[in-house]
Amino acid sequence: MSAIAALPSARIADEAWETAHADVLATLRDLIRIRSVNPVPADAPDGETRAARYLADRLAALGLEPEVVEPVPGRGSVHARLRGDGTGGGPFLLLSHLDVVPAPPERWTHDPFAADIADGYVYGRGAVDMKGMVALEYGVVARLVAEARAAGRDPADDPIPGLRRDVLFTCTADEEAGADVGAKWLAAEHPDWLRAAGAVNECGGVSVTIAGRRLYPIQIAEKGIAPYRIRVRGTWGHGSMPREDNAAVMAARIVGRLAAPTPLQVTPTMTRFLEEAAAALPDGPAAVLLRIAAGDVDGADADRAMDDICDPMYARALRALVRNTLSPDVIQTGVKYNVIPGDAIIEVDCRVLPGTTEPEARALVESLIGPDLLPACTIENLVWGEPVETPASGPLWDILVATLRDHDAEAVPIPAMAPFGTDAKITIPLGTPTFGFSPLRLDPDERFLERFHGIDERVSLEALRFGLPVLYDVVRRFCG
Ligand SMILES: [Zn+2]
Repeated sequence: MSAIAALPSARIADEAWETAHADVLATLRDLIRIRSVNPVPADAPDGETRAARYLADRLAALGLEPEVVEPVPGRGSVHARLRGDGTGGGPFLLLSHLDVVPAPPERWTHDPFAADIADGYVYGRGAVDMKGMVALEYGVVARLVAEARAAGRDPADDPIPGLRRDVLFTCTADEEAGADVGAKWLAAEHPDWLRAAGAVNECGGVSVTIAGRRLYPIQIAEKGIAPYRIRVRGTWGHGSMPREDNAAVMAARIVGRLAAPTPLQVTPTMTRFLEEAAAALPDGPAAVLLRIAAGDVDGADADRAMDDICDPMYARALRALVRNTLSPDVIQTGVKYNVIPGDAIIEVDCRVLPGTTEPEARALVESLIGPDLLPACTIENLVWGEPVETPASGPLWDILVATLRDHDAEAVPIPAMAPFGTDAKITIPLGTPTFGFSPLRLDPDERFLERFHGIDERVSLEALRFGLPVLYDVVRRFCG
């Protein structure tokens, strides 16, 4: 039994939920068909603005007064506000992004921008990252507006019945490429669109079935981003007389050193994640997770143990969450087979744990390159995205956990970290506790993590059907 009041969604008739679900589905399909690709392609230069205007039109049709901003033509974000009576504290933010990564169609079984429905799934770029959540958040807004209208209120001006806080609906541009013309711009120009007493965003609240147990990691932390460009100086020469300071050879050595796994470093968030996951899992996998949490295993052994207990898809994510990672992703060198190159460029994607600074990330790269090769290198930081963390405690956290359990009796909600970045990098420093919580209950064998930026991105109709009342209850409980 939850200590929090009964489920608000239970007061709404099944037929009303059916109608709302159909509307969420239609909204998602419309959004997928708007090619809001980032980096912006030449043949669809205004996708984000079209997506923002589409939502603004839908919100205006509900009777709200949405705003679209475009710091750069074509790069639109949209915002609307539902009023509470103001007695419950700061607002609640429904956060999302409108852009999607490119989707070369060759290996897809469905056109990535057609929003086909097949086998109980909606297919398309953005289905999980993150137009599905945009549609769910819109669905909650539409539901609240319907309740205001039923009570004879004007949703543009009057408080929504039962809401003690305002509800903000903000969809950003440019999340997939650094947020400069999305959340970062909004934080400077419209901070009231992002500042709230609590927020839900992507990357969490999605079921993960491991050893038959349904875990729901809720994102509370994300790693920092610190890519570096390393210029390697060797000596130009004739390929007939090999030399040790061939920049290609030096670069190859450096890449090998950067790619080796770094030592385990288990942060408090991950300790709690591992311990709470262990408590839900059978003895064998639980023992492995507890050993990693306790730090009494070395990195290579921990990696092998993770491979043994989970699917490679999850093991890869888990390995990345218990250490700083480096992935050398670009190597450029050489002009001709018989010319020894004197220059090489390596770009390495470095992701660091909360608590790590940029100088510490750089020091890690330098130490891995090693004292023999470091003098030949100049190292340039390309981007710095601070790691962020919000506490897994407080009223909103308790509501997220309780609401998942109320909707899925077997749910095991646990606090988690994302190995990559989201707009939470911007909202958490603004003072908004931001949780990755886009509630979906998936089939046990759905390879959700591989759908992110992958081929055949899709979300099941049943998962969306689960998510809408969960999200509605979270809003009603936190704002009630
Ligand atoms: Zn995303």
